[in-house]
Amino acid sequence: MVLPIYIYGCPVLRKKAKEISTDYKDLNILIENMFETMEKANGVGLAAPQIGLAERIFVVDGSGEAEEFPELKDFRKVFINPKITNRSGKNVSMTEGCLSLPNISESVNRPTEITVEYYDENLEHHIETYKGYAARIIQHEYDHLEGVLFIDKISPIRKRLIKSKLSSMQKGKFKIGYKFKTVS
Ligand code: ZN
Repeated sequence: MVLPIYIYGCPVLRKKAKEISTDYKDLNILIENMFETMEKANGVGLAAPQIGLAERIFVVDGSGEAEEFPELKDFRKVFINPKITNRSGKNVSMTEGCLSLPNISESVNRPTEITVEYYDENLEHHIETYKGYAARIIQHEYDHLEGVLFIDKISPIRKRLIKSKLSSMQKGKFKIGYKFKTVS
């Protein structure tokens, strides 16, 4: 089922999400819905707060961009209760966007390599290291679980420049090709 995506201004996007318990009801349905919602919106990642749930889970699928970014081959995964345990490599700037902030893209600095501990859809534990675009997607989605948005990481000048765009966004004044929900 495709769910509406919560847009900037919705309080859930600013909440620190809570850990998913092992007996979480209908976890497989939640995962399925998150993949469907992400695909419908052509996203490479979707975190639970973006569908209104303050739970520590996100899905990613960058496999469609593997030709340009080889590190995204097979990068279709579920991350449950993730913890980024190490960040290393250079800080690199790259343009990011977010399904919760339609029609905005800005340069964000992030380290190029991370190690993440998480549980997959079968609740099996993994510790893995990711580089490049994959590391970036994970960091962006992980931030959502902490109530952090990528616009929090841009320069004050850029932030001032997008201010009016953000306030009209909260009022639903934008065009986008997927179901969404705004605060008002
Ligand atoms: Zn996002």
